[in-house]
Amino acid sequence: MTTRIISCAAAALAVAGIITTHTSAPQRGRGAAAPAARQILDGMGHISVRSDRRPDRFFLSRDLAPALVTAADLVEYDLDGNSMETPMRQGYQERFIHALIYKARPDVMSVVHSHTPSILPFADSSVPLRPMYHMASFLLPGVPTFEIRRVNRAVGMLVNSIATGSALANTLGDKAVALLRGHGAVIVGPNIPETVSRAIFLDINARAQLQAITLGGTVTYFSQEDVEAPVGGRGEAAPAPRPATPVVTTYPRSWPFLKERAMGK
Ligand SMILES: [Zn+2]
Repeated sequence: MTTRIISCAAAALAVAGIITTHTSAPQRGRGAAAPAARQILDGMGHISVRSDRRPDRFFLSRDLAPALVTAADLVEYDLDGNSMETPMRQGYQERFIHALIYKARPDVMSVVHSHTPSILPFADSSVPLRPMYHMASFLLPGVPTFEIRRVNRAVGMLVNSIATGSALANTLGDKAVALLRGHGAVIVGPNIPETVSRAIFLDINARAQLQAITLGGTVTYFSQEDVEAPVGGRGEAAPAPRPATPVVTTYPRSWPFLKERAMGK
């Protein structure tokens, strides 16, 4: 079940244009492939899920473009990025992103790594990515940026070692998203549907923020006030205040739709 849902999630992200290849969706006859064509896509990016049987293991595809992933392509890894397979299939170099985040964050059950183009202006500049609307409330606690140049002996831009994976997990801290300067983003969540939805709404939010800034006026960002319940609305008693940091959001209607679209229905 877990392996089926993760391959479906990879396809959902592919169709949404978050992680995909420019040829995969049309070749597989997916009628809803149009969103994938709206970006310059590179076949990179991946999604993983923590094992529901062993919290010290997770599943991630072998080295394959996300849109092509099926359940048979998934490999089980430990939290140091070691494959549990014999013989081993070629894995992603950046599996350490997933391994070290799962190690540092027991609450995280799924991780997406993407090179989504819309987030790059924020990953590469001093302008912080901020929530623009209610679907992006998971950004309210803040969006840190990972600088790989600060990691001792890191070479290149890939998070391909325990040291770089651990440093990235440190930068992420308790947040839902971290940007990687000159590279992309990581998005984490408490389950696959939530993490997939966050990855998609992150993209929409980044586009909206860039557009709002370009307009040149004052931007009113979505704030903590917007998620707190109204006091005494319509004569009712004031509801209990919500937690200061909305860690978990839910997108109950999105997931069935995303799955069906990914499967070409
Ligand atoms: Zn990458």
